[in-house]
Amino acid sequence: MRDILIIGGGPAGLTAAIYSARANRAPLVLEGVAAGGQPMLAHLVENYPGFADGIRGPELVGAMRRQAERFGTEFVSEDATSVDFSLRPFTVTTGSGQRFEARSVIVAAGASPKMLGVPGESRLLGLGVSTCATCDGFFFRKRTVVVVGGGDTALEDALYLAEIAQAVTVVHRRDELRASKILANRAARHPKISFVWDSVVEEILGGDRVTGLRLVNLKTSQRTERPTDGVFLAIGHSPNTRIFAGQLDLTEAGYIRLRERSMTSVAGVFAAGDAHDGTYRQTVTAAGFGAMAAIDADRWLREQRP
Ligand code: NAP
Repeated sequence: MRDILIIGGGPAGLTAAIYSARANRAPLVLEGVAAGGQPMLAHLVENYPGFADGIRGPELVGAMRRQAERFGTEFVSEDATSVDFSLRPFTVTTGSGQRFEARSVIVAAGASPKMLGVPGESRLLGLGVSTCATCDGFFFRKRTVVVVGGGDTALEDALYLAEIAQAVTVVHRRDELRASKILANRAARHPKISFVWDSVVEEILGGDRVTGLRLVNLKTSQRTERPTDGVFLAIGHSPNTRIFAGQLDLTEAGYIRLRERSMTSVAGVFAAGDAHDGTYRQTVTAAGFGAMAAIDADRWLREQRP
């Protein structure tokens, strides 16, 4: 029986672990088979405070993990596959069938960028294909890039990349943007940003790096090849909350709804990071939410057993 079990081994979960361990709660982190969360995809994190010259994403989360371990966190490199929050103690079961009991749970399961699922995409991920403009934009100085998507993220990414790259093309599957008017107007006016409408990516081309895309125009069915050095996918994120459906109150988009501070709809279950936050989605905010959830969980546990 644990006092605090943390689901997720990204910045939110690891920071929750550091705080919980230092509060003498000996937390257990189910860090998942792909531990480390989204910074694992970032070559260089330059906006995490304290690293004036930037830090590689895997190095940053590796240091967070060691810090959590040093204070007595235990790690299990498995994914949580089901939970029962209807009874206390709460139970969490992993892929291999291990079952853990805990007085409180912090859900820091993160979110995953949506992928297109086209040929070339997974092979060239990190080799010109990116899901994070603020992480990887810098590597495309004076190069040409394509942003896929028509929402706020796509246009924010396009505007961000236009400050770095030589030219930015936004490829959108319709002829109308989903993004807010203000971003749409700003992008339309930007001399370095152009749009390809009604089009989807059919294949990402390149040997050991991205060299281009094959696009299909959905109205005319015409196929074209477009050279580019980079492809930024901005087609949305999905919170990793499928296993909590029916257990926790979720928004329509699947984010965990918070009730009181970081507590979810179930007393004793807390949430931190991208699993509940679809707005900020930064390493530093995820870490901040992790600290908040750990402090709230510790206080809640103390209130249960005065
Ligand atoms: P989003 O609003 O869901 O937009 C996703 C975009 O990707 C849509 O244009 C969608 O096309 C397109 N798309 C989805 N699947 C696709 C596929 N398989 N192939 C091609 N295109 C595909 O996601 P988001 O832009 O990440 O925004 C998420 C939320 O965060 C929104 O509520 C947004 O307002 C908010 N946000 C706000 C700001 C801001 O205010 N500054 C910045 C970023 C995000 P369709 O339009 O055809 O569906």
